[in-house]
Amino acid sequence: METFRSIIGHRRVTEYLRESIRTGRVSHAYILDGPKGIGKMLTARVFAAALLCREGGEEPCGKCISCRQMEGGNQPDVAYVTHEKTVITVGDIRTQLCNVVPVKPMAGPYRIFIVDEAEKMNEEAQNALLKTLEEPPSYAVIILLTANANALLPTIRSRAVSLPMLPVPEEELTEWLMAREQIPDYRARMLAIYSGGCPGVALSCARSEEFQAQRDEVVSMLKAVPTMREDRMAEFARGFAKDKESQETELGLILVWIRDLLLYKAVREKAPLMFSEESDSIRSQADSISYEALWTTQEELAHIRADRIVNVNMETAFWLFLLRWQERFAAGL
Ligand SMILES: [Zn+2]
Repeated sequence: METFRSIIGHRRVTEYLRESIRTGRVSHAYILDGPKGIGKMLTARVFAAALLCREGGEEPCGKCISCRQMEGGNQPDVAYVTHEKTVITVGDIRTQLCNVVPVKPMAGPYRIFIVDEAEKMNEEAQNALLKTLEEPPSYAVIILLTANANALLPTIRSRAVSLPMLPVPEEELTEWLMAREQIPDYRARMLAIYSGGCPGVALSCARSEEFQAQRDEVVSMLKAVPTMREDRMAEFARGFAKDKESQETELGLILVWIRDLLLYKAVREKAPLMFSEESDSIRSQADSISYEALWTTQEELAHIRADRIVNVNMETAFWLFLLRWQERFAAGL
């Protein structure tokens, strides 16, 4: 069973939650704030399991009836508020939370509500939640998970304990991935950096064959940028524009490649490269382009990322991006 000890990173958050269990000072509402894949749901589940564990320790014991129900997803005193639409409506909050809160716990000392993607609550839903937060029964614990706490009403935020979930440090995440997934260090490091310190994202990429294929394809393109023929460039641009699903991944990988080039320029052989297995290509590219040209390239890439939302012609935009980048290589230092 997952415990606080098995959660990677988030030391301050888990320490805080353990402390509140130890001292019995449990708040009625918590906000776990951090990007997708950072570990919000896992942390909330461990906290809920520990609060309800019959052994009464800081960690869930994994053996008692409550812990076993928690593992099986049928602990009756834990409710996951779900939604079907793109927003969480007032109906969702009323039927799954407000109306249920007055019902006493079945067995344990707490009745726990976990609201995932809480930023999707519309204003009406938030106002309904607020009413419950104003006068909660003693046993109620409401845990809001969100990627954007600023989307919550200030009145909700002021009634909850806010716990920011920060990226897991690169070194720690790398070692964890190596041990857990049995992958070599260069791959683990690449995933740690690419995921922005989000273990959930790193893990799903590590297990995804599609991600590996995408990565290989993007790397072969990146290696060829300085000498790529125009028709090949156009072909890449076409492929990029067509597959909208994978654009974010591809742009992310290009961004870390540029980061590697900048790092190599700065500290040479000491650079902790994300694409360390491609160090020969990184070295030769870093030596044939200036800092300024790389920064400009990085900025242009950020524009493409932002433009995806406004639906510009991606094929042309990406093709121009590659062309300009190649020109900067040709111009040399
Ligand atoms: Zn237990």
